[in-house]
Amino acid sequence: MSNFIKLLPDSVANQIAAGEVIQRPASAVKEMLENAVDAGATEIVLLIKDAGKTLIQVIDNGCGMSAMDARMCFERHATSKISNADDLFAIRTMGFRGEALASIAAIAQVEMKTRPIEDELGSCLKIEGSKVISQEPCQCSPGTNILVKNLFFNVPARRNFLKSNTAETRHIIEEFIRVAVMHPTIAFSMTHNNKTVFKLTKGGLKARIVGIYGNSYNQKLLPVEQKTEMLSIKGFIGKPEYARKTRGEQYFFVNKRFIKHAYLHHAVANAYSELIPTDSFPSYFLNIDIDPKEIDINIHPTKTEINFRDAKYVYAVMQAAVKKSIGQYSLTPKIDFDVDPSIEMALGSLPKEGVDQPKITINPDYNPFEGGDKGTVSPPRQPKEEADKWQELYKHHLPEDTDSTQADHKETEQPLETGSGSTSSRFFQIQQTYIASNVRSGLMVIDQHRAHERVLYEYYLKKLKDSPQGSQQMLFPQNLRLSPGDAEIIRELKEDLVKLGYILEPLGKNGFVINGIPADLEENNSVEVLERIIENHKKHLKDINYDKNVNLARSMATNLAVKPGMKLREEEMAELFDSLFACEAPETALDGKRTLAIVPLSDLEHFINEKK
Ligand code: ADP
Ligand code: MG
Repeated sequence: MSNFIKLLPDSVANQIAAGEVIQRPASAVKEMLENAVDAGATEIVLLIKDAGKTLIQVIDNGCGMSAMDARMCFERHATSKISNADDLFAIRTMGFRGEALASIAAIAQVEMKTRPIEDELGSCLKIEGSKVISQEPCQCSPGTNILVKNLFFNVPARRNFLKSNTAETRHIIEEFIRVAVMHPTIAFSMTHNNKTVFKLTKGGLKARIVGIYGNSYNQKLLPVEQKTEMLSIKGFIGKPEYARKTRGEQYFFVNKRFIKHAYLHHAVANAYSELIPTDSFPSYFLNIDIDPKEIDINIHPTKTEINFRDAKYVYAVMQAAVKKSIGQYSLTPKIDFDVDPSIEMALGSLPKEGVDQPKITINPDYNPFEGGDKGTVSPPRQPKEEADKWQELYKHHLPEDTDSTQADHKETEQPLETGSGSTSSRFFQIQQTYIASNVRSGLMVIDQHRAHERVLYEYYLKKLKDSPQGSQQMLFPQNLRLSPGDAEIIRELKEDLVKLGYILEPLGKNGFVINGIPADLEENNSVEVLERIIENHKKHLKDINYDKNVNLARSMATNLAVKPGMKLREEEMAELFDSLFACEAPETALDGKRTLAIVPLSDLEHFINEKK
């Protein structure tokens, strides 16, 4: 019998291992930037071409490497950062697994020039798919200059898996920000296809945040500072009135390394509760300085997740720190002559006390069913002829003895008019949430929100497939200021947004002017709807079956559908009823639940005849 088990050649093993560390260009960017920070650089330059697919280059003025180290650093588990197991518990640098460069070299064509400042000559090394092509002394500036070309050149499956250039660029920008934001004493720049994306000069943390997100952040930030024996928290949070509908800038760092921590996020969100609407997100940039002994970084291969030994304690300090910062701010009198329109917008969307209104609404006055005079537009509807699909659905609800010919259906399955022909008896609203109607087979109850969502969803999906649709000019064009990542999303969705009726013009680096909006949208919530679209897009990015159109149509529908708690007039209910049954899937809500239910007459009888 022959033997089947063999050892994988090193090159293959390296490629497999590389996949864990380097999933996309942004992962390589992260590792290379972190190495430059660890090398003590005061200036770091990132250059990319084609979303990092053809080139990622990082130039730093850090400590550089000797000829020997230049060769060693591409070996797996080669690291200067730990030498024994104890070091693992005292590590403060960004990297320490010694895997990044080995992984990158396994799946790309790498050229590196590096020189410690005290050496006269540097080394130049070329390595491709883990094979060293050449190494020779060379002239170069002190520090390290690494070029990574054609990532995944030898792993076509991976290469094909990469997303569009805009999507990959967005990931890179995100990684860049995560490293750059907490290192304001290092100058960072980023250039994509020879165009400058960021140019961040040395300065304080606030200046760094403003440098990344734009001048408008100058007045949006509140300082946070809290020290205890075990840890210290320092950074900035967004003022409550600037909370947004899009999960924007939420950054935790531990010893300046970006981390994700749902539990700590809760601590911050909790400190804001009652101050911002429940569907809004506060921004924060908070660093926790803590003895590495108190954390376990190594639980996740990409190291964005960590465990605290005493997470409850960190939670409590975090919450107190944020509360204190907000408290101090709200105590100081604010004289603000120059009211930013976005403040008004944020306040406008807070639930008002004492008003009988649904808690979260985009615009409680918006009535999608209302026709013309105010300029509101009647609800998107399918042509009337399609409006009899609903009969199919209720065939089985017809009492057995009904003579169910086609012609009969129309007569029998319309909502029955129980009164003297006045329409007011066809539909009624239950708790301003459900629409009830008397149908042949019993009592039909429609969830108004889900039903309207379905109607709008199919309407917008159709719009997106068609050619561009009508748009209304904004009377007062609105400015949309976004983070670089969010701006990238808008650019990515631009074509589809145009189809919906949006007219957006770029404004500065990460801004847009909203000049036109879909005909059926109200002008005063245009910014909010776009923010929700961005948020929704982000939420679904990781879905494999993610379809941009489906997602956009969903966002629009969820945003604009009547909410539970909204009073509807008889004609509006009738309109919704008809539009619903003109849908492809009238009975299914967007979340897979039901839009409606029918309580059969027999059940009603049964119910009412039960003994008291
Ligand atoms: P790790 O960062 O986990 O140690 P890497 O594979 O990222 O592993 O890097 C291996 C080693 O190469 C580092 O420990 C460091 O000594 C050296 N190195 C990498 N990048 C640089 C750089 N830009 N400047 C100086 N030394 C570097
Ligand atoms: Mg590293």
